[in-house]
Amino acid sequence: MAKALDKGVGAGPRIPAMTHLTDIITLPHGRPGTTRRLTIHRFGTGDGPKAYIQAGLHAGELPGLVVARHLLDHLTRLDAQGRVKGQVVLVPMANPIGLDQVLLGGHVGRFDLASGVNFNRAFADLADSVSAALRPGDLKADADANGRLIQRALATAAAALQPRTEADALRKLLLSHAVDADIVLDLHCDSEAVMHLYTTPACWPLGVADLAARLEAKAVFLADQSGGQPFDEVCSTPWDRLRARHGGPDTPIPVGCSAVTVELRGEADVDEGLAAADAAALIDHLAWRGIIDGPAPAVPDLYDLATPLAGVDRVRAPVGGVALYHVPLGASVRAGDHVATILDPATGDRHPCHARSDGLVWSRTQCRYAGPNDILLCIAGREVLVTSGPLLTA
Ligand SMILES: [Zn+2]
Repeated sequence: MAKALDKGVGAGPRIPAMTHLTDIITLPHGRPGTTRRLTIHRFGTGDGPKAYIQAGLHAGELPGLVVARHLLDHLTRLDAQGRVKGQVVLVPMANPIGLDQVLLGGHVGRFDLASGVNFNRAFADLADSVSAALRPGDLKADADANGRLIQRALATAAAALQPRTEADALRKLLLSHAVDADIVLDLHCDSEAVMHLYTTPACWPLGVADLAARLEAKAVFLADQSGGQPFDEVCSTPWDRLRARHGGPDTPIPVGCSAVTVELRGEADVDEGLAAADAAALIDHLAWRGIIDGPAPAVPDLYDLATPLAGVDRVRAPVGGVALYHVPLGASVRAGDHVATILDPATGDRHPCHARSDGLVWSRTQCRYAGPNDILLCIAGREVLVTSGPLLTA
């Protein structure tokens, strides 16, 4: 952390004022005698677009923690050079509750053990609060002004949330720092996976395609709402609902927040080289967005990369047993292909599992001990398979 070196006098080169601030916030509603703290880094003066980046909301997903460390180093250097034009908020370890959940030698970072609730679900949707707070005449014919008005209203609505548990207090804190951002990047990883992203159809063509190309993503999944109120969607989708309710030719409402869940491959892909490359790609993307002052090498548009989240073919185990995979990550398969087998080790019976869709095998479950109906692997199909219910797994 550093602040105010700008003397601005004398004959030497002008030293930029460093803007890096670090907030360390104690989570309220902890159990007596215990304390957990969230560390938040802020760069930039607040003039210009704001990016919010967090890692480790699912606390056991470590690739993001390494990428965030690299991002912190980049941002500290860029800040010292006066090159953070907008504002960047970085939360490198977004879940101190989950980081502390080690059970019988295994890390349980996905679900809050106190409630059983997934840490990346049950975030507050602020669209109704903002909608109720808008008065006639608040929205004008200026989309940018309307965007700033809604960002302020979202921040006010987040500040008014009244959490009653430590996990909900964490949700409020994270949301409060993100909900008025122009760009939100939530860094996760899958079990075993290639690089992939989740976002909304509204966000995809407005910058996320650039991010996907820079990260060399192999799949992007689009959904208006995937269910369960994950972090990225409570940042981006209120804008869609506010536009539907209040937008019009005389009151244009922009896609005010481009929110993306970035899945940094699989849980075991914890690697310094990968993390350095991913962080560099994210910095280039921020430069392309105008938040960092610097060149952003051009990348090709990959608009055909996106497929509907409802088109994901989740190949499941027909019975319990040992999962034997026949296709590697990144393989292109065709509908009907024999992609896995469940072996019942007691009887020797083998149960074949087939793809329903053509597409890329983008994830597999690390654990080879499958229960009946467990997901074994996922294929990025283009045809919609799911027409109701949540689109994400637990
Ligand atoms: Zn995750």
